[in-house]
Amino acid sequence: MQIPRKLDKYIIGALVVLTVLFIAGIVFFFIRTDSLQNDIADLRNYSKELTNTLASTTASLNEQLAYTHTSLSNAISEERNNVGTLQNQLGGFQNQFGNLSGTVTTLQKLSQTDPELLKKYSKVYFLNENYVPSRLSEIPLTYQYSDRKQLLLQSDVLPRLEDMVNAASSTGVKLYVFSAYRSFDEQKALKGIYTVNYGAGTANSFSADQGYSEHQLGTAVDMITPGLGGQLDGFDNTNAYTWMLANAYKYGFVISYPKNNGYYVFEPWHWRFVGVKLATDLHNQGKNFYDMDQRDIDKYLANIFD
Ligand SMILES: [Zn+2]
Repeated sequence: MQIPRKLDKYIIGALVVLTVLFIAGIVFFFIRTDSLQNDIADLRNYSKELTNTLASTTASLNEQLAYTHTSLSNAISEERNNVGTLQNQLGGFQNQFGNLSGTVTTLQKLSQTDPELLKKYSKVYFLNENYVPSRLSEIPLTYQYSDRKQLLLQSDVLPRLEDMVNAASSTGVKLYVFSAYRSFDEQKALKGIYTVNYGAGTANSFSADQGYSEHQLGTAVDMITPGLGGQLDGFDNTNAYTWMLANAYKYGFVISYPKNNGYYVFEPWHWRFVGVKLATDLHNQGKNFYDMDQRDIDKYLANIFD
């Protein structure tokens, strides 16, 4: 078959063009692939960079978070400590306030309490002859041994005395008041009678001066019980005396001059009100009022009528 020459030329031309285009395509394809590979590498690098940045940012954030957490914890515990300190201070203030109000109460009580009520009297320390108790009340006749005279007692002590006598009575023990408050003049007159009757030496031994001061205070009583012929002597052999030794402290009374004491003659009938607290402490420690230091005794003054 004959191909026309002119057509032949065209075909060759077209083939050349196609070949050129084909080659150009391949070149372009390789160039393009190369560029894409570069792009991918770039992207990978970028991604790596991003990952690194993310990691370092996360680490930094974690660090900051940990730091913040620690700081907050520290701040919180510091605040807690502050609150604790404040609470302690508040507690301290409250205690101080409590102590203060306690002190004020004690001072108030002390200012209203006759300091003589708990004084120790001796051959050298007497109650002033002009001393008269601030308040005296009449002892009801049922508590008196004899209804021939009016007996007076310090008004705050009277109810304690009545309680004591009633308590004894409820156990079958009969107690009566033989003598209570005596003024300086009464005592002087009484001592005069004793001195006339027994001579100064004997009178001093049983109606002497310590006991006299206590009667002038209005807080001391001489107790008696039936069966002694109206005499104080022999009181120590009665169940009334035994009962008082065991129970009088519960009502605030102590025996001023007990057996074998070193400062005065034994007076089993003579009891003095010193307050329940002091009487109880003396009873529990087996001590006598006159054996105690005046400074230690004074601590009980504010609460003598509690
Ligand atoms: Zn007496």
